Amino acid sequence: MQRAIISPENLRPSVETSLHNLIDYAYVVHTHPTIINAVMCANDAQQEVEERFGSEALYVEYTDPGYILFKKLQAEIRTYRKSYGSEPKIIFLQNHGIFVGANSPSEVKDIYKSVESRISEGKDLELPSGMMEAYQSELASIVSDHYASRNLVSKAFRSPLYSHFSANSDQYQKISRPFTPDIIVYCKSNYLFIEKGGKRKETGDSLKEFENTNGYFPKVLVEEEGGLIIIEESELSIRTVLEVFTDMMKISYLSEQFGGPHFMTGEQISFIDNWEVENYRRSVAKG
Ligand SMILES: [Zn+2]
Repeated sequence: MQRAIISPENLRPSVETSLHNLIDYAYVVHTHPTIINAVMCANDAQQEVEERFGSEALYVEYTDPGYILFKKLQAEIRTYRKSYGSEPKIIFLQNHGIFVGANSPSEVKDIYKSVESRISEGKDLELPSGMMEAYQSELASIVSDHYASRNLVSKAFRSPLYSHFSANSDQYQKISRPFTPDIIVYCKSNYLFIEKGGKRKETGDSLKEFENTNGYFPKVLVEEEGGLIIIEESELSIRTVLEVFTDMMKISYLSEQFGGPHFMTGEQISFIDNWEVENYRRSVAKG
């Protein structure tokens, strides 16, 4: 793939390039929409797809991304062709997203519309507002002091959607692990829940313990009945983490309509964690 790049030469091909090439339609559009991932990251994902789409869609269980996923999808598409005599137009990937293929852009759009309406059928997919507002708390200033000497910035936010998950530690469990590899890339795979009323000393200890256990500082901190505190290297990165984590909360909330949240397993998470490290090491080595 590296040799096939026309320009610019300094960019890497996406690990999903080969997946696009597998699907024999002129247009292949791959996305990770919230409403589709609400099903893909739910306990009843496969059952819901079978009931709502039948032979029209191909459902693929979670597989480590990259070459492994490419080989798995290649085999599944071959089986689908044999069974139905056609190319699948809709491919659902558990804990990941969707591929839609067709021979015209307008058909791709129509398929997307129909997928969303079939998922919504008979379901209440209303969400509390995810609009984040700035929030100040004692914990937010403790955290900001804690990281000040390391050139890290932190900001606290709140939204009605967030309050749903920060009410207590049981609620927090529903957003305590990542749903998809993309979430890990931006937010990492572990987050920190801080019980209300925590003092400076205890909070400092929790932050240190988190770092000792995981090897990195928490990017996402959930304060019980308080704010969502995001710690990052810049304001721009804070915005990105906020956006990705908000999407994750929406997915979790909506997944309740499809059997409840289904996180990536420890093994799947550790594959991505190590993959990320590899990528990072390579980029450092390159200087
Ligand atoms: Zn993807």
